[in-house]
Amino acid sequence: MAVYQHDVVVVGAGLAGMRATLAAIQKGADVAMITKVHPVRSHSNAAQGGINAALTSRGDDWDEHAYETVKGSDYLGDQDAIEVMCQEAGAAIIELEHMGVIFNRDEDGRLGTRRFGGQQRARTFHVADITGQAMLHVLYEQILKVRARVYEEWFVTSLVLDDNKAVRGVVAIELMTGQLHLIKAKAVILCTGGTGRVYEPSTNGLIVTADGQALAYAVGASVMDMEMVQYHPTTLMGNGVLITEAARGEGAYLVNKDGDRFMQKYAPNFMELASRDVVSRSEQTEINEGRGVDGCVLLDLRHLGRELIETKLSYINEVALDFANVNLAEQPLPIRPGNHYEMGGIKTDVNGRTPVAGLYAAGECACVSVHGGNRLGANSLLDTIIFGRRAGDAAAADAKETGEVKVSDSVISIDRDAIKNLMDRNPTSDTPAKIRLEMGKAMNEGVAVFRDEAGMQRALHTVRELRERFTGLGVHDKGQVFNTNLIFALEVGFMLETAETICIGAIARKESRGAHFRTDYPNRDDENFLKHTVVTKGPSGPVITYSPVTVTKWKPQVRSY
Ligand SMILES: Cc1cc2nc3c(=O)[nH]c(=O)nc-3n(C[C@H](O)[C@H](O)[C@H](O)COP(=O)(O)OP(=O)(O)OC[C@H]3O[C@@H](n4cnc5c(N)ncnc54)[C@H](O)[C@@H]3O)c2cc1C
Repeated sequence: MAVYQHDVVVVGAGLAGMRATLAAIQKGADVAMITKVHPVRSHSNAAQGGINAALTSRGDDWDEHAYETVKGSDYLGDQDAIEVMCQEAGAAIIELEHMGVIFNRDEDGRLGTRRFGGQQRARTFHVADITGQAMLHVLYEQILKVRARVYEEWFVTSLVLDDNKAVRGVVAIELMTGQLHLIKAKAVILCTGGTGRVYEPSTNGLIVTADGQALAYAVGASVMDMEMVQYHPTTLMGNGVLITEAARGEGAYLVNKDGDRFMQKYAPNFMELASRDVVSRSEQTEINEGRGVDGCVLLDLRHLGRELIETKLSYINEVALDFANVNLAEQPLPIRPGNHYEMGGIKTDVNGRTPVAGLYAAGECACVSVHGGNRLGANSLLDTIIFGRRAGDAAAADAKETGEVKVSDSVISIDRDAIKNLMDRNPTSDTPAKIRLEMGKAMNEGVAVFRDEAGMQRALHTVRELRERFTGLGVHDKGQVFNTNLIFALEVGFMLETAETICIGAIARKESRGAHFRTDYPNRDDENFLKHTVVTKGPSGPVITYSPVTVTKWKPQVRSY
């Protein structure tokens, strides 16, 4: 075991983590970034379609972006936070461009945009359909340039508290050696990404396992609006691979088995570019009412022509061919709604602060809340960049005011004993993979596009049963070096904890709002539920409280597209 010490520790090396690290270093803090995979393998790398910003210098209006984000959130987003994000977006895009992100340009040589869902105006900046990859690699260059300390392929197992219950570091396993280390810090920023793999299938990478949400929850931070789980309208059947919204942004149609553009019925003004919750529900309705094709509807790009497909959508062109054997220029592609994004997360303010001293969160693991009940496409990359920077600034500033870290080196024994127990236990026929699959299927059945009391209770029951089974789980691989079996087991533990918060939040919200659509309560109920669901760990399980939604100037209205 070794003990390390830094001012600020950032857990996660996706876009939020890298942006936070950079900000904290620029504020003069000694910063370390910890990541369970190589930084550029973070899920941010998979982002395709783009990043939103209203460039006021070319006539766009951040106020309009903010209003559309509020409307998209079904009025559950906090409007003060949304205003911050939309107001700072333009400068963030220019900054990224100056760092070296080669955003596509239009015919006049200016930064080019495409239109994304739920927005009237084209304000999504992109690098073909590999925007996340382009941004992540450029930020990684910045990380190398400032020589940030990176603990790469280290897996954080817990947050460390001092006697005053402030977070003052983390315990992590170095995957190459299996050694456990204590890394003390005055501030810890969680940037660990979403919850995708709690569901099966999901568009998310296998590494997206809700670690940060569970780590924060374990030390008394709250998770908020976890029931707001986004199903993306265009994913491949079976494996859940994403086909970016940019396809519809460039003009693709959604059609049913009769060739009808069915969005005409559900969203006559926005058609295929209504917000994601609306499009996913429309597709699922078509499928449920027998107008689908083998459990899917069709995404038709043929009229866009081969040249556009091969230049602006080259990545999904490859994906369609490799995974569905469909040539997009010649055939429509079968797609369906699939798990994609978690709007909820660790409750923070606009500077990433949680109520637990020393603990911050940013990116998909956090809930500021700017996405409310439904996130607009291309607002998440923006969220990571804006609130990653703000959390880095705040953590560095607070660390300066924080005295010596008083944590005994012996705290590490708690994790050491827990891992030893897991390793010593005789493995049964249960494996982390089996438990994860059963959890994922139960969630995808019970807490999906359409929900009702009975289905959600079944999912919760399964999750609780699996948690019981998890306590008896053993690890087959007894080795020290890259013990992925052990890591998968720890990840499943994090996911089960998080799945429970999703289920209970969903069951308690007896209305329909955003991505949370209940067939037994089909209407939005502002009188009783215009409020955030806050889940905190109590002595005998999760405890639900509610907190008010901040409304600045957009009063809730009936939402139609
Ligand atoms: C396929 C796909 C396409 C998308 N396309 C878009 C898009 O076009 N536009 C848009 O706005 N949004 C898009 N999104 C959403 C967006 O990409 C994500 O919400 C965002 O990138 C998340 O960034 P993040 O920094 O919060 O987390 P991530 O990029 O997921 O990074 C998480 C980091 O945490 C680390 N980590 C996690 N747990 C631990 C642990 N226990 N110990 C150590 N390290 C840990 C990981 O190693 C990783 O470095 C897309 C998402 C997907 C899945």
